[in-house]
Amino acid sequence: MNHNLFATFEKRMTERGDAPFITTREGRDYRYSDALEAVARLAGALVALGVGPGDRVAVQVDKSPEAILLYLASLKVGGVYLPLNTGYTSEEIRYFLGDAEPALFVCRPDSLTAAREVAASCGGARVESLGTAADGSLMEAAEAATPVTEMLERGPDDLAAILYTSGTTGRSKGAMLSHRNLGSNAESLVEAWRFDEHDRLIHALPIFHTHGLFVACNVILMAGASMRFLAKFDPDVIFEEMAEGTTMMGVPTFYTRLLKDPRLTREATARMRLFTSGSAPLTAETHEAFEAATGHAILERYGMTETNMNTSNPYDGDRIAGTVGMPLPGVEVRITDREGGNHTPLPQGEIGMLEVRGPNVFQGYWRMPEKTAEELLEDGFFITGDLAQIDERGYVQIVGRDKDLVISGGYNVYPKEVEGHIDEMDGVAESAVIGLPHPDLGEGVTAVVVPAEGASPQEADVIAALSDKLARYKQPKRVFFVDSLPRNTMGKVQKNQLRDRFKDTYR
Ligand code: ATP
Ligand code: MG
Repeated sequence: MNHNLFATFEKRMTERGDAPFITTREGRDYRYSDALEAVARLAGALVALGVGPGDRVAVQVDKSPEAILLYLASLKVGGVYLPLNTGYTSEEIRYFLGDAEPALFVCRPDSLTAAREVAASCGGARVESLGTAADGSLMEAAEAATPVTEMLERGPDDLAAILYTSGTTGRSKGAMLSHRNLGSNAESLVEAWRFDEHDRLIHALPIFHTHGLFVACNVILMAGASMRFLAKFDPDVIFEEMAEGTTMMGVPTFYTRLLKDPRLTREATARMRLFTSGSAPLTAETHEAFEAATGHAILERYGMTETNMNTSNPYDGDRIAGTVGMPLPGVEVRITDREGGNHTPLPQGEIGMLEVRGPNVFQGYWRMPEKTAEELLEDGFFITGDLAQIDERGYVQIVGRDKDLVISGGYNVYPKEVEGHIDEMDGVAESAVIGLPHPDLGEGVTAVVVPAEGASPQEADVIAALSDKLARYKQPKRVFFVDSLPRNTMGKVQKNQLRDRFKDTYR
């Protein structure tokens, strides 16, 4: 049997024939039949450019339907697709090209010259371009190419993609994902979230991250559904699209932004059947406010670059605010002692390190065998780096990242607990709690607060308000006010940046 993920997709795409696959507001629409033809041509171009089985195809381009077709073409010829954040500078690209040594680097048309220089200085990848109007040298090569009809034979563990992690806790690592990793997860999600041919997904996420690329596109392909490709998240556009869409996959900031808009009503979302959230924690407050405004309980799920999706709240049944639901079929989770190092599960209900095992778990970090050995255990469990607890009903609650845990005077302080109390206060929009080097305590609990619009809360008031809510060791020693929290494109708060900015507070 051929385990090439594209073999599964191709079968589904063929069945769907003239049904819509990707449509855009600009009217550059692909039916499944058009997409199959374009993929065959792009696959021809890849072969002509020298991409063979196992070769990396690095891609840093703006979002377009053709970028997805390029991903599919890469699968078809046995390539390893390697999308790169569009925000990376040439210097960062130099690192990634040097690390991944791709056979081909596809860049934006206007950075072709610079990209060729960078590529020449590190590994000598061939460089072609792809624009957002089906333009660029790669599209020209595809026009001229002989379409590839055969599908390269792949085993279940052969690599389909390398995706670099978001770099929230340190330098991005390349997660090696196999055909089975991606395929098994897409199948589970189609089932868990009830996707079918009639779905039309509002796609406003970037496509260089696991959420917008694999969760969204692989699910749509597996289901034979369609997606509306939007360049970015723009509430004006989303409200229009909700009149014809059925589902939206979002990051928490999508929902907080929609909640600020008076157009968010039951009527505006009446045609939608599902809103999902992930990539960063959705607060219980946002979940509840969204449900009050629309009648929709956002379905929160939890995943990461290394594992695809691990847990999900149920489609039918309670979607519990502040939890990420239960393990997907075939995925096992366990909570272990973060310090013990013996990876034995803790009693139910206790907070510890979340570890996961299943067909979704990656093949290791690209060219980092030591890091892989540290985090991917011999029994197949992967140490996620997230702290969590599991309630009596089996719902997983993410408490925060292990690296964000504050240890003050020998006591563990979970930032999320402190943030929860601060966020409830009048005059506060949101907060981030961090640990900073402290001469006596090891780390000093520190709050960084964004005031609500028009409010000007004071440090002493915040500290006083927490005094009867939290044990003394959990109370912030200092409170700083900022206009906004630093976030990346996926809405993840960049606590490293905050720790760096305030690092000398207690020195
Ligand atoms: P790096 O590994 O490079 O530090 P990163 O962990 O942010 O970056 P990603 O793989 O994009 O890179 O993100 C996965 C992480 O996102 C998870 O480990 C978890 O901390 C967080 N996350 C994802 N979904 C959720 C969720 N629903 N609730 C809370 N956290 C989430
Ligand atoms: Mg990570």
